[in-house]
Amino acid sequence: MAKLILLAVVFYIVYSLVKKQKTAPPPAMREEEMVRCAQCGIHLPRSECIVSGGETFCSDEHRRLQRK
Ligand SMILES: [Zn+2]
Repeated sequence: MAKLILLAVVFYIVYSLVKKQKTAPPPAMREEEMVRCAQCGIHLPRSECIVSGGETFCSDEHRRLQRK
């Protein structure tokens, strides 16, 4: 019987999570400015990018590649 209750709780959590994702993206995702990596062209949030010489990069490796 305890297993059934646990299962119901898990189903409810999963259902509410799915419903939340469909209705509205998290505020942080909408407000975060997206920048483009100058090396590979991938888009990433500004807070996660590496800025060097006025260019933005997705990783330190790409920053070094671009500098060559
Ligand atoms: Zn890159």
